[in-house]
Amino acid sequence: MKCGDYMKNIFDITFEDLEQYFIDNNDKKFRATQLYDFLYKKRIYNLDNMSNISNVMKEKLKKDYDFSFIKMIKKQEDVDVKKYLFELSDGNRIESVLMFHDYGISLCVSSQVGCNMGCAFCESGRLKKVRNLQTHEIVEQLLLIEEKEHIKITPIVVMGIGEPFDNYDNVMNFVRIVTSNKGIDLGCRHITISTCGVIPGIERFMNDFNQVNLAISLHAPNDKIRNEIMPISKAYKLEELMSTIKKYIAKTNRRVTFEYIMLKDINDSIDCAKELATLLKGINCYVNLIPYNETENIQFKRSKKVQILAFYDILKKNGIAVTIRREFGGNVDAACGQLRAKSY
Ligand code: SF4
Repeated sequence: MKCGDYMKNIFDITFEDLEQYFIDNNDKKFRATQLYDFLYKKRIYNLDNMSNISNVMKEKLKKDYDFSFIKMIKKQEDVDVKKYLFELSDGNRIESVLMFHDYGISLCVSSQVGCNMGCAFCESGRLKKVRNLQTHEIVEQLLLIEEKEHIKITPIVVMGIGEPFDNYDNVMNFVRIVTSNKGIDLGCRHITISTCGVIPGIERFMNDFNQVNLAISLHAPNDKIRNEIMPISKAYKLEELMSTIKKYIAKTNRRVTFEYIMLKDINDSIDCAKELATLLKGINCYVNLIPYNETENIQFKRSKKVQILAFYDILKKNGIAVTIRREFGGNVDAACGQLRAKSY
């Protein structure tokens, strides 16, 4: 099925759209259940091995949809973390990171090739956005890693390369596909979408998916510091962002996570901690302090451990739920802000 020059991949298609496809082609809509069962439950991807679909319909599906996959071309491992490099059909490359926790195995997927948001501390965003990922290129990161590792992944965070709300439709179709009870059936509450603060995206998201988690890359307690490290804040001021987040919480009744990368002498002072505590007072939220991972191309330094602990204490004393993120993947450049740093 063509969409402009792009032939839709079978992993781009939501269950409801697949039902409609079969109806439009004079077949029964329960064929969609059968096909989803093969693809997402039995993990059989070759149409020729799907016994209950007629040969005529198989030929039609082959003509209408691409059944090919992105390619996993490299895997690196460290304690409790694995990083995968994928090559897309046009030669572009993306990365995903698998993390092993006490509570499960989480996967961080990418949503774009490069990123236009330009966060100053981010290695992933140093290369400008090349293009959005198609839905299937996000779904296949999950399918290929589960198959390679013989595991069931939960939860998923859309926090790899890219700004998810800059690729809203494809990312949300990914959510629809992986949460379908006809297929992977992942609970909405096991998915987190992380944005650097794209307000129109948050507004759409609160109306479309009120059970999926939202994380905000905040990284500063005021516009002055945020402007220095996150260009997005020039378009969407902190006051407007916070008022949108309050609307989101009122509408969804969900707790929001604030990500805060600790950058030495930039956003890690005691005054910053107090300002952050004031900013977040009374908001149903949780703060994740992330020790920064230094990279050779970016001048920012990691905050000292004692500074991170002092920052943590101030938030805690002010009644803010806070944790210091356990560090994953520094040795394989899989840590936050390091994806795609050395893929080429
Ligand atoms: S932190 Fe996220 S939004 Fe910012 S440049 Fe990096 S990938 Fe893009």
